[in-house]
Amino acid sequence: MNALEQQVEEQIDAVELVARGVTNCARCGRTLTDPVSVKRGLGPVCYGLSGGGIFDGNMDVPDEEWARRERLIVAGGEVDFGVNWRYPVEGIGVGYTMRVSVRFHEGRFEAYGHVNRYGHPDGDDEVVFVRTTDLKEAYQAAIEAGPRYTAMAHRAQVQVARAAARRSKVQELFKTSKEVTDDVRSRVHGRRAL
Ligand SMILES: [Zn+2]
Repeated sequence: MNALEQQVEEQIDAVELVARGVTNCARCGRTLTDPVSVKRGLGPVCYGLSGGGIFDGNMDVPDEEWARRERLIVAGGEVDFGVNWRYPVEGIGVGYTMRVSVRFHEGRFEAYGHVNRYGHPDGDDEVVFVRTTDLKEAYQAAIEAGPRYTAMAHRAQVQVARAAARRSKVQELFKTSKEVTDDVRSRVHGRRAL
């Protein structure tokens, strides 16, 4: 693993810690104080920028609708909360996408993500966000998962871009110093020629 990859990995680890410990925004890194933002791991602006809010209304439905959903999911159906949510990849920043859904599995409701790894030799991957007997809890986790991972992917991508910019800046400085050296050298030679 080279220095850049190492750096990216550390950043991803940091972002994942933020997502779990939730004290900073997963997208921009700012400290969060509002309880809703802290719980979500994203400030309101970054939540919107990461595709948040689209499924929020799904929580605000009558009991009959919750009963209908429960029957559907227990019977083997799934409810999707969007596909192509961005998903961070170690060492690259962004590459994979994810479909977020709720299903019933071994007596529990699961909010999970199917990670599309596009031709990876081991195939696609799966991330389970929560396993619970409470369907509402599973819904809430699924609603928040897509925007959270998209925000993490964005942050990882920004870090990769910054590292690349720093590297090209160093190369630029090296080139400049070489030009100066060459210039001095040619003048010295020129003077000698006189
Ligand atoms: Zn933010």
